[in-house]
Amino acid sequence: MVKGKTLNELSALCHGIAVEKGFWETERNIGEALMLIVTELAEAMEAHRKQDDANFKEELADSFIRLLDLCGGLKIDIEDEIHKKSLVNKKRPYKHGKIC
Ligand SMILES: [Mg+2]
Repeated sequence: MVKGKTLNELSALCHGIAVEKGFWETERNIGEALMLIVTELAEAMEAHRKQDDANFKEELADSFIRLLDLCGGLKIDIEDEIHKKSLVNKKRPYKHGKIC
């Protein structure tokens, strides 16, 4: 169902499931959607602190699922955006020019 798919395919999959489960029936609050991604990362941090490796991995997956759902909902070509930003990052100086 998931393995071997591109990021855009995963985005369509995650968004399709979220739509199917009713999370896009009304216009999404983008700020709330972003904060829900942060909460998944916080849950990953808590799992890491508890040395719960299985839950840590699950929460990272939740983070990606919410992020990819948002990209799908906003019709963002995340592969293209990552490609473009990676080209920018590649040109940045070592440690982005920071001393520490
Ligand atoms: Mg979670």
